[in-house]
Amino acid sequence: MKRILIHNATLVNEGREERGSLIIEGDHISDILTADVPIQLHYDELIEATGCYLLPGVIDEHVHFREPGLTHKADILSESRAAAAGGVTSIMDMPNTFPMTVTLKALEEKQRLLEKKCIVNHSCYFGATNDNYKLLAHLDAQRVCGVKLFMGASTGNMLVDQADSLRHIFESSPILIAAHCEDQEVINRNAQRYAERFGGADRVPMSKHYNIRSGEACFNSTKTAVRMAQDTRARLHVMHISTARELGLFSEAPLSSKKLITAEACIGHLIFDQKDVQRLGTRIKCNPSIKRRSDANGLIEAINAGRIDTLATDHAPHLLTD
Ligand SMILES: [Zn+2]
Repeated sequence: MKRILIHNATLVNEGREERGSLIIEGDHISDILTADVPIQLHYDELIEATGCYLLPGVIDEHVHFREPGLTHKADILSESRAAAAGGVTSIMDMPNTFPMTVTLKALEEKQRLLEKKCIVNHSCYFGATNDNYKLLAHLDAQRVCGVKLFMGASTGNMLVDQADSLRHIFESSPILIAAHCEDQEVINRNAQRYAERFGGADRVPMSKHYNIRSGEACFNSTKTAVRMAQDTRARLHVMHISTARELGLFSEAPLSSKKLITAEACIGHLIFDQKDVQRLGTRIKCNPSIKRRSDANGLIEAINAGRIDTLATDHAPHLLTD
């Protein structure tokens, strides 16, 4: 069996950083050596990693691979190759493809496509709608990573905006609920106000995206989701937290099976702020919107404190013409 030695890296694992080497035999890690490494070790291939970090394969729990139906943007093969190239060895795909993954048939089809075309480990979310909560009981927790719940409309309309539907979903989901939290009423009200001010919805400048999809919209919706999860003892994961204000709704308890309410931050909300929007415009238009530098700094602190539990990409390719 072929032995590969990755020599003298800075190993980052289990909350620690230490100098060491690693041996791969076949397709498994067979040894991790953190003491003085005897370089006379037998190996077939040496990768010299002095000065490099060596990390476990990254799990990205929030991606949009655009297949089926939106493959003019990207597809499962192209995006899973990109993931592997970036060190991401497991992905969880979102349901706003076409058709949307909101029926058991569409779920079967998505899983079949992933099985056939995805070159990294994978799972996918099932999408909740106002009227499919009865299907949730049929989901196989071994194969489906969560139920995606849009509490504000985004790309592909899968909005759940009826209070009784929301409650049914929280009460009946046998698996994690991953929520996109932005209050649609607040967004609609803001959108109308700016459309009036600028003389039409299509004349509102890109810079107002932040005012329309506002911090208030995020906070109200996240608060509703957290309250509902507390009431129903549901397992809730709030995706892409974008404001410092929302952080107070989450706990710093370490991740464990007892932590029922968790939060995610996405890279874009950490590295960009309103100043970048002036420079990059629609290239960094996303939902929830990019917020202020003080929000981004708050998110980074919350990651280090354990108040935010996961860091994802929300990798969602569009064409430049989009
Ligand atoms: Zn997303």
